[in-house]
Amino acid sequence: MAAAFQTKKYEKFLHIIRSLVPLFSIFMLQSYLLSIDSYAQWLTECNLQVLLWFYFLLMLNERGQVYILILVATIFFIDFNFNSGHHDITSLNLVIALIGLLVVAGSAYVIQKFSKVIIENKILFVIAMVVFATAWGLLILPSQELDLLFFIALICKLIVYMTCIHMVNSVGRIQYEALIERINTDFLTQLSSRTAFEKSFDQSFKAAQNKTIQLAFIILDIDNFKLVNDTYGHLIGDAVLKEVAHAISENITHYKGAELFRIGGEEFGIILANTDYNEAQKMSLNILNAVNKLSVNTEKGTFGVTISIGVAEWLDKDKTKEIFYNRAESYLYFAKNNGKNAVTVDGVIVNR
Ligand code: GH3
Ligand code: MG
Ligand code: MG
Repeated sequence: MAAAFQTKKYEKFLHIIRSLVPLFSIFMLQSYLLSIDSYAQWLTECNLQVLLWFYFLLMLNERGQVYILILVATIFFIDFNFNSGHHDITSLNLVIALIGLLVVAGSAYVIQKFSKVIIENKILFVIAMVVFATAWGLLILPSQELDLLFFIALICKLIVYMTCIHMVNSVGRIQYEALIERINTDFLTQLSSRTAFEKSFDQSFKAAQNKTIQLAFIILDIDNFKLVNDTYGHLIGDAVLKEVAHAISENITHYKGAELFRIGGEEFGIILANTDYNEAQKMSLNILNAVNKLSVNTEKGTFGVTISIGVAEWLDKDKTKEIFYNRAESYLYFAKNNGKNAVTVDGVIVNR
C-alpha cells in the first residue's frame, strides 16, 4: 500500500515537471521575441502569475475546479489591472474584467471537459495552434494601448496556455489509463484479470460485511486441462481457454451484478452481487451445460471439455475475505474429488 502511494507521488512529480517544460519554453520565447532585458519587465510581460496558475491547475487536476476558478479570477483581475496599469480602476474596467472572468472560467470548464477530444482530434489541435498564433500576433502588435484588443489577447493567451497544459496533461492521463486497462485485462481471454479481481473481491467483501449487498462467489476450474495441453499442445490449450471464457460470459451477461475474471491459469471467478442464491446455482448449472456442449476440433481428433464449480454465499461466519475465498475453493475441490464435471453449492453437489 505504502509502495503504491510512493509510486503515485513520484509519477505526479514527473508529470508536473514534464508539463512545466513547454510552459517555460513559451515564456522564454516570449521574452526573446519581446526583447525583454529586465527581470521586472519579464515578470510583467510573461505573466508569471499565469505560470503559477497553471501549476495549481496541475496540482489540483480535475478535482479542484472551485479553487482553480477562484485562482483564475484573482490572477485575471490582477493581470488585467496590472497590464492596463496606466488607467485607474474604473467601473467600466471592473465590468470588463468581470465579463473576462466569466469567459475564462467558462473556457476553463470547457477545456477541462474536452481536453481529451482536443488532443485526439487533429483538426481541433490545428485550431488550437491557430488560436495560439493569433494570440501571439495580438500580443506583439504595438496596440497594447487599446484596452479591448489587449483584453482579447489576454483571454486568448489564457485559453492557449490552458489548452497546452491540458494537452500535456491528457497525454499522461491517456497513457496512464491505457496502462491501467492493460493491467486489469487478461491478455489471452480479454476477461478482467487477477489484479482486477483482487480489488473487486475486496470491495464486494466489505460491502457484504456492511450488509449493503448480498454476495456470492463462484469459482470455476477446467477439468484435466494439463492433459489437454499434453495431448494437443499449448495452442489448442489456449483456444480451449478462450472458448470456455466465452461460454461463461455468455451465461452471465443478463445478470447485472455479475463480474467474471480469469483468476489463474485455467481458473475463473465470478463475483455475484445482489443476485438471488438460487439464481447463482442456476447460473452455475447453465455454465456447466454450456461448457459440456463445447466440441474442440483438432488434427488429432475432436474432444469435449468439462469444468468443476464451487459456489459459496457470504455468511457472517466468513470473517475475512480469505476465509470466504477458501470456503468457495473447498467446494470446488469437493467437486473435483467427486468425479469432476460438477457444481458444489455450499458443500453439496447439485447436478446429480
Ligand atoms: P484438475 O482437473 O484437477 O483441475 O486438473 P488440471 O490438469 O486441470 O489441473 P493442473 O493444475 O494440474 O493443470 C493446470 C494446467 O493449466 C497446467 C498449466 O500448464 C496449464 N495452463 C495454465 N495457464 C495456461 C495458459 O495460459 N495456456 C495453456 N495452454 N495452458 C495453461
Ligand atoms: Mg484444472
Ligand atoms: Mg487449476
